[in-house]
This record gives sequence, C-alpha cells and structure tokens, in this order.
Amino acid sequence: MLQPYPWHQVQWQEMQQRISGGRLPHALLFSGPAGVGKLDFALLLAASLLCDQPDAAALPCGNCRGCQLLAAGSHPDFRLLQPEEEGKEITIGQIRELLVWQALTPQYGRARAVIIEPADRMNANAANALLKTLEEPGREVLLLLITARPAALLPTIRSRCQQLPFAAQSGAETHAWLSGQLADAQQAALALAISGGAPLRARALVAEGGMERRERLFADFAALLEGGQEPVALAAQWQPLSLPETLATLHGWHVDMARLKVTASPARLDNPDLRERLQALSERVDLAELIQRQGRLQEAMRLARGHPNTQLLLEDILLGWSGGSRQARSAATTR
Ligand SMILES: [Zn+2]
Repeated sequence: MLQPYPWHQVQWQEMQQRISGGRLPHALLFSGPAGVGKLDFALLLAASLLCDQPDAAALPCGNCRGCQLLAAGSHPDFRLLQPEEEGKEITIGQIRELLVWQALTPQYGRARAVIIEPADRMNANAANALLKTLEEPGREVLLLLITARPAALLPTIRSRCQQLPFAAQSGAETHAWLSGQLADAQQAALALAISGGAPLRARALVAEGGMERRERLFADFAALLEGGQEPVALAAQWQPLSLPETLATLHGWHVDMARLKVTASPARLDNPDLRERLQALSERVDLAELIQRQGRLQEAMRLARGHPNTQLLLEDILLGWSGGSRQARSAATTR
C-alpha cells in the first residue's frame, strides 16, 4: 500500500486537510534537494485524488479501478511529464499534448492530476506554453511541479504555484527508516550524511556501489593533491564514471575541507568518516583557494546537466589541483 515516507508526515497531513476541506490549489510546486522523495509524494497525492475510496488519512486504497489503472500506468486522467531521454529537456510538444488532454473532461472520477518532473528541465518555449495552463487551468486538474532548483523556473510560473518545500533530513525517524532499508545503522548514518540528508539518494548510493566508488575516488583525489597522480591520466580514468556524482562528491570534500580549515571541530561534516584525512589534505591548500575550487565545481555541476566533454571538463578541474595549491607550490619553489 502506498504510504508517505516517515519524514513526510507533516506535509501529508497538510495535503489531507486541504483535500478534505476542498482547498487544494490547482498548481503546487514541490521544491527541495534531489533524493528526499518529492516525486513519490506527488505520486501519492495523485493516487489519492484518483482513488475511488481513499481512507480517512486520504491514502489510496490500492484496489479500486482508479488505483489499478494508475499502477498499470494507463489511467486516462493522469499524466507524468518527464524528459523523453535522460539529460534532455521537456519540450513544447509535450506541453502542447498536455494542453489538448487538459481540454478534455475527466474520463473517470472527479479529478485529474499532472506531474512535471523535473520542472526546471522545461525549455523556454515549453515553460511559456505551460504558463497558459496556469493562467487558464483545465477542469479539475491538479498540476504538480517538482524541482530541486526552483530559482531556475520562470518567476511567473513560480508565482502561480503554491510552494511546498521538502527539506534535507537528519531526524531519528529518517535514520530508523534508512537503517531498516540497509540493515546496517552505521552505514545508514554515513550514507545519509554523504548524501546531504537525502534518504532515497543515500539508499541508492549504497545499493549501486556508490560507497565503494567513493573510496576509490578519494584515494585518487588524495594522491592527486599529494602530487602522486597525473591529472590528465586521472581525468581519463574518471571519465566513465557518472560526472554529476563525481563532481558532487568532490564538491562535498571541498566543503568539508573548508569547514575544517575554519575550525578544528566543525558542527557538521558531510564526510565524517574522512575527517582526519580531509583535515590533512586541507593543510596543503589555503582557504581562498578552497572556496575558489568550490565555485569552479559548482559551475562544472551546472555544465554537467548539459552534454559537456567529460574528459576536458575533468582535466580542466584537476590540472589546477595537482600537488597542492598554487601558493603552496610557489612557496615550495621559492624556499
Ligand atoms: Zn483506490
């Protein structure tokens, strides 16, 4: 049976009250980091609206015709709009189809639901076409937009949606859930920290060998900073890996290195298991350069959403890091 995640109880109660009070807006924007379960929450809400006999908590029954059609992916009153291929945009063609569908009357019950995910992948034409829908909503249609980057949406789209924020998680109920999923409380705590408090990302990281990849990546990274790795060769070695994952991992280490540079006992580290090693590496670089590298990595993460040349992008980043910071190097040569 579909259930909200334990860390979504408050948001679910709010939705339940809105449904029972007839106060659902026609467009909601779910924002928050990737991997906290926004899409699952939207699917649950859609299922609740399309169910013939939801329970007292507004949860879908799972057995009625509406629930079965939705589970089979063939409910005529439901649309899930995503890029047709990974890394591609949501196109105006997809939004136009949505507009045609929206002009029809619901086939079954009283409600229809549309999920657009990730909403920030709509290109400019698609976003402008969607605006029309938001200005003149179809009958009994709930529009659910999902994004980890609300600032990337048109302000006119944002202002026409009611925003429901989803935060990163570190609470006891999340730890308990993830420990149950991974059957290892210690690994669960570490994976959640590394994933920046995104429980579903943490689960996927463990399931897909991300913890082992991270260890190998760290050994390479440490060797590079210590001058024992050649940047271009390393870029080639990393090239087959997931670029967004590699960049996010490197970024997380730099954030922690900067934290350790500022104080010996930072309140929070995303990589608590690497504390001593990151501390040692941070001594090779000055704070200004660490911050500059973070900025460069953020820019690369933005570029990685398109189709960059992975090898060149990685080389560009790694070439500046080899053997410690520029200042450390120049200090060494003038010594
Ligand atoms: Zn049902």
